[in-house]
Amino acid sequence: AKAKGRACYAIFDPVVAQEIISASRLENDLKGAIEKEELTLYYQPIFDLETQMIQGVEALVRWQHPQNGLISPQFFIPIAEETGYILAIDNWVLETACHQMKQWLTLGSNCQFSKVSINISSYQCLQKNLTQKIRKILSTTGLNPSNITLEITETALIQDPDSAIVILNQLKDLGIILSLDDFGTGYSSLSYLHYFPVDTLKIDRSFISNLSKNKEGLEIVKTIINLGRNLNMDIVAEGIETDEQLKLLKQLNCQYGQGYLFSKPLAVDDMNQLINS
Ligand code: C2E
Ligand code: CA
Ligand code: CA
Ligand code: CA
Repeated sequence: AKAKGRACYAIFDPVVAQEIISASRLENDLKGAIEKEELTLYYQPIFDLETQMIQGVEALVRWQHPQNGLISPQFFIPIAEETGYILAIDNWVLETACHQMKQWLTLGSNCQFSKVSINISSYQCLQKNLTQKIRKILSTTGLNPSNITLEITETALIQDPDSAIVILNQLKDLGIILSLDDFGTGYSSLSYLHYFPVDTLKIDRSFISNLSKNKEGLEIVKTIINLGRNLNMDIVAEGIETDEQLKLLKQLNCQYGQGYLFSKPLAVDDMNQLINS
């Protein structure tokens, strides 16, 4: 009788029940999202902090759900990772972002930038055929490897470092640019850093938001920038929201940055306007 009572409680807890229903419904809906053309890419410009020129754009996926409206990747990427559907999403993003970059390049002189950054999941990062997949996209789009930056998190690399290193080295040999995303938020960042052939460090937004709060916040960002520079890496600060943060980052000689202070992620039409303005 006791067990039955507990089961009833679990089923009829309205909050839990609602979460279970909506998560499994979304999980189900997500499987058809690519075919129904419900996924779209937004692009957030990455700026050279000194020249104020756009240096590249980061592709960020959104899901236009027919009932629930625009759903953030923070919400559906974890669901996609659990179901394995993430690979299909990553492949779609890779192809769509590369074709878009090709379009921008053929606009000619109006387009200041020639790099698109693409987020890849740990699944994608461990695919033995990833390099082959990218070779194929390069040949269909006519892009150069140096037009593509792949953003990978430490957490993804740490899951199976030995396999990740083999794949990253193949990508690197091909000429793809590799960027370590959310740097400083995973664990064992420092002990692993020199094993991975990464070209760029992206300083996580949490560090940037503490930058102007206190001395410690400033010292941490200064240390990350110096570390990256000593390892010959480019540095991108993410989530720059205030003039004060920008001023401090320039003083610390941080080269690149992105954030709401410059621009939110933009739909293609809005990005085209920015390019032509
Ligand atoms: P991320 O790669 O760290 O992307 C940066 C996130 O910060 C984006 O959120 C962006 O919109 C947001 N952001 C940019 N500037 C600012 C700022 O100044 N202030 C604040 N508060 N936020 C800012 P978004 O687009 O919701 O993406 C969230 C995460 O979802 C991404 O974090 C990434 O981990 C994942 N994601 C997004 N697109 C893809 C994708 O195509 N594939 C995969 N595998 N993951 C993706
Ligand atoms: Ca990213
Ligand atoms: Ca990031
Ligand atoms: Ca993040």
